[in-house]
Amino acid sequence: MKPLVLLHGGAGSWRGKVDWDAIDRAILGCARHGFRELASSALTAVETAVSCMEDSGVFNAGVGAHPNAIGEVELDAGIMDGRGPRAGAVACVKNVPSPVRVARIVMEETPHVLLVCSYAERLAREHGLWRSLRSGEHGLGRGNSRSEGLDTVGAVAVDGTGSVAAATSTGGLPGKMPCRVGDSPIPGAGYYADDRLGAVSATGIGEKIMIKLASYEVARRLSDLKPSEAAQIVAELMEDEFGSGNTGLIAVSMRGAGVGLNAKVMPIAAVHADGEFSRLVEEGDVEIVNGRLDLY
Ligand code: ASP
Repeated sequence: MKPLVLLHGGAGSWRGKVDWDAIDRAILGCARHGFRELASSALTAVETAVSCMEDSGVFNAGVGAHPNAIGEVELDAGIMDGRGPRAGAVACVKNVPSPVRVARIVMEETPHVLLVCSYAERLAREHGLWRSLRSGEHGLGRGNSRSEGLDTVGAVAVDGTGSVAAATSTGGLPGKMPCRVGDSPIPGAGYYADDRLGAVSATGIGEKIMIKLASYEVARRLSDLKPSEAAQIVAELMEDEFGSGNTGLIAVSMRGAGVGLNAKVMPIAAVHADGEFSRLVEEGDVEIVNGRLDLY
């Protein structure tokens, strides 16, 4: 099994409205960071890659996040370790530049899976991961320079021991109600990992992804199908159920890695032992992308 890390930067319909070069640099750079950590574990690789995207300010996650309906930034993130499996998540946190790091702490240092609001922020503070973000540091303040529609981030990875992991992080839907929580911190919805199956990260409209438990729906098919097939089947199920979907799914298993998409575009990047690439996946060319991803 060759180690691999695969990232997404959210699915949407915003082609032409964004600075693809900036996204490309950020997502590929973060995939490389993640890949370097694969020697430690798939878990550390996805945490590193997602934290890097949160820090980049380029995506709707971490310091780049969209504000809610009252102009506040509330962040959700989850991480899952295929060994165990076990998961940790935080939801609706403020002033936490890298919520995926706090999600890992929830997983490893508390008896819980999901921690929200002030006690999640307190945990972040205790670990030096809380920072009163100055006005303008969050996506709200960067809004003028940021392009419309930049999106949720996620990563899946497999390491040299065959272990898998997944992580997803978001500022949620732009203009969401205060205290709304989407799929991204919910195991089985926004992400899933189990060494017996594989790992998945999802993006799209959380209210739809949660109803279908889209990441688990992909994962449970990974024992029989290639990741590209499992992810595309679930992307199509989402479309059949809800009409236009904006759902993007990335998946990795012992059979390879792949993408499922029922949105117009989704930036992805992959780094593995034999090479690396990043690109803007389009609905119509998912198979070609899957072919490239299936190489390893
Ligand atoms: N799934 C995220 C949410 O609903 C948003 C996204 O993936 O763009 O919070």
